[in-house]
Amino acid sequence: MQQHVKERRQALNEQCIRCGECFRVCPIVPFTPLEGADPERMTRLTLDLLTSGQQTQEAATWTASCTLCGACIGQCPEDINPRELLFLTKNRLGLEGATAQGFFSFMAQGINLLANLQLPSAEFRLLTSPSGTGAEKPEVLFYYGCNVLRTPDILLNAIDILERLGVSFRVLGGTANCCGTVHFRGGDTAKAETIENRLYDRFVEADPERVLLWCPSCEIQFLESGTTQRHQPSFTMEHYARFLADKKEELKRSYSRPITKRAALHEHAGLELGKWVKEVLQTVPGLELVELPQMQETSYTCGIGSLALAPNARDAVHSRVLEEAVAAGVDLLITPDHGCQVSLCGAEKDYPFAVQNFVAVVGAAMGIERDDLYKRYMLCGGGEKIFAAAKGFVQDNQLDATNVRETVWETLNWGR
Ligand code: SF4
Ligand code: SF4
Repeated sequence: MQQHVKERRQALNEQCIRCGECFRVCPIVPFTPLEGADPERMTRLTLDLLTSGQQTQEAATWTASCTLCGACIGQCPEDINPRELLFLTKNRLGLEGATAQGFFSFMAQGINLLANLQLPSAEFRLLTSPSGTGAEKPEVLFYYGCNVLRTPDILLNAIDILERLGVSFRVLGGTANCCGTVHFRGGDTAKAETIENRLYDRFVEADPERVLLWCPSCEIQFLESGTTQRHQPSFTMEHYARFLADKKEELKRSYSRPITKRAALHEHAGLELGKWVKEVLQTVPGLELVELPQMQETSYTCGIGSLALAPNARDAVHSRVLEEAVAAGVDLLITPDHGCQVSLCGAEKDYPFAVQNFVAVVGAAMGIERDDLYKRYMLCGGGEKIFAAAKGFVQDNQLDATNVRETVWETLNWGR
């Protein structure tokens, strides 16, 4: 990985003519103090940062607020992927190694606290150690990353759907099985490489035909850091939603009841997730899907690795989609991933529609009903009420009650 980063920096430096086109088309710039900056100068400064580490306020601001939306892909006259360029510049700008580890530990603590407030300890252990239907060579290794553990109901619904479809699978994820993107973006390339190699060993050990990804940030990490070229896996890698979209007939056969709702999907460009989720939702009986224009081009997800990096853009995207959903008269706003669900589920308090992840909708059509505890806690609106609602988990999982009281609200809202 370190060699790859070095080579790509050099190649991009030689190939990029500093024309400024990627800055010109960047939808995040208007939400930053860089609006009106000279595009050619901005790309010159950014290439300086990437290649020699020479830091200016302007280049650091663009790099840090880049949501990796991908709107610049296909716009470069030299056929460069500017998202890769900015991704590698994030790595260059990154915090020192120790701080990247500190950030990861902080994030992991929050993920594990939230998972423990929603799951019995036996189930938590099962999800974070390799498990599945026990086939020798499973069709699928469902690698869910780590962040979706903040919303375990999403993860459990996704697993139940695989079971209902009769897929042989194993499950891998949790904070001990991170993809390495936090360290990579934080500038600790050596540690990111160690994490990536360990993860790939686990993929190989499971010996699946396909690895299904859940987390869009893992997908970006694998796409833009050269993971596939380095490991040349014998299995295919694709998003979970794409796998489901390929199983339309099996999905239709597994439904037992209609979901009679007028619904809209919250979407982001940058990855193809929205396309696959929409195809899956079109199989759900009774579901009427309406289109919302939204501001899809601004990010690949709502979460901490993407839209949350540009808070002004995030606020604009969220108010726009919520208002559009009201105008469209939907009774259900569907989210494509956990980051969006975390960001939008609290809106149920003020808006006349429910907010559910797509696997909850698909699961409900199969007769799978699961309480969304994350949303329930969010709708409590504060630490003490959440503590009362989560008391059983605090006791059963032997959590530090004072810590839960003091940190739960902040942890729930982190990265929204
Ligand atoms: S990936 Fe998106 S936010 Fe980043 S530079 Fe390209 S257009 Fe701008
Ligand atoms: S990456 Fe492409 S679009 Fe951006 S400055 Fe370089 S040559 Fe121009």
